[in-house]
Amino acid sequence: MTTGLSAVVREPGGAFRLEEVQLEEPRPDEVLVEIVASGMCHTDLLVRDSRPASLPAVLGHEGAGVVREVGSDIRGVAPGDKVVLSFPSCGDCLRCRTGRSAYCDSIAALKFGCRRPDGSVATTDGAGRPVGDHFFGQSSFGTVAVVNGRSVVPMPEDVDLRIAGPLACGVQTGAGTVLDVLRVPPGSSIAVFGAGSVGLCGIMAARLAGATTIIAVNRRASRLALAAEFGATHLVSPLDVDPVEAIREATGGRGVEFAFETTGVPEVLTQAVRSLDSLGTCAYVGTAAPGELGGIPMLEAMTKGLTVRGVLQGDSTPSRTIPRLWDLHRRGLLPFDRLITHYRLDEINRAAADAERGDVVKPVLLMP
Ligand SMILES: [Zn+2]
Ligand SMILES: [Zn+2]
Repeated sequence: MTTGLSAVVREPGGAFRLEEVQLEEPRPDEVLVEIVASGMCHTDLLVRDSRPASLPAVLGHEGAGVVREVGSDIRGVAPGDKVVLSFPSCGDCLRCRTGRSAYCDSIAALKFGCRRPDGSVATTDGAGRPVGDHFFGQSSFGTVAVVNGRSVVPMPEDVDLRIAGPLACGVQTGAGTVLDVLRVPPGSSIAVFGAGSVGLCGIMAARLAGATTIIAVNRRASRLALAAEFGATHLVSPLDVDPVEAIREATGGRGVEFAFETTGVPEVLTQAVRSLDSLGTCAYVGTAAPGELGGIPMLEAMTKGLTVRGVLQGDSTPSRTIPRLWDLHRRGLLPFDRLITHYRLDEINRAAADAERGDVVKPVLLMP
């Protein structure tokens, strides 16, 4: 048994409450990690507010820390290693066996079930009652976590664990979609809808890839200013202009070769598709309510030969993608650290409120 301090959500929409918890020893396929810092993502708040079946639970899925103990089946990582914690996967299904674990057959249950596949949890509260954990294989809003071994990504010794956690979700989703899914080539054009952490990392990656027309679309002037610093060549506020028209205008009437939709708003997906030049590709990474399709303009998409592609986690294979993105950051090519605002773990509710208001781009909690 290990004792830790974790932020527990007990009722839908309720506050994160710091509680002393007990964690079981890691099972053969698990790793006990001392968390140094954890990013906060909108998905954490979505689950806090709208997944009552998962509660009570410890959330958090952008953890970074130091390995304390490894299960008997774990290879390639040892106590003392610095690690980033990314999304989990089963390791057995066709997608996992062919290196496409972002689309693991069991991914939804492993991410959102807040328990192990056998239904058990590793965490109990002060009264000995079970608390949901293994959220995204990790539940990183706490000082220690028993983590699914396939979520654990060993990092080089020079990694800064205070900032590395967001590589696990927001950064790899944004940069990975542009670099590995859209494969934006030098001299190309791209429009990025939304300038949160995913959209802004997409813009950094588009500049890195050599795109020469990078159009940022967002309502907030402050976010557009950030987008410009990271490489956006055109800034579009949908409060002022019709973004589709503005994008056509910026591209000599043709539209962009690539669109990246990060807001999850169906009408914005429509705009993203409509902003494409013929044979263009739109990738989207956010979603509205389940079942909501978004209005894809069928005739236009067909006659212009457009591709619309849903993407999870930038198609990443975390053990390969995350160290590569860290290396780009280390060379000054992916300055995602500038999106981060640090909070202490006991400031977690303020971090969540600031993120929901859009006052901060990427909150990262520092553990005591
Ligand atoms: Zn996330
Ligand atoms: Zn799988």
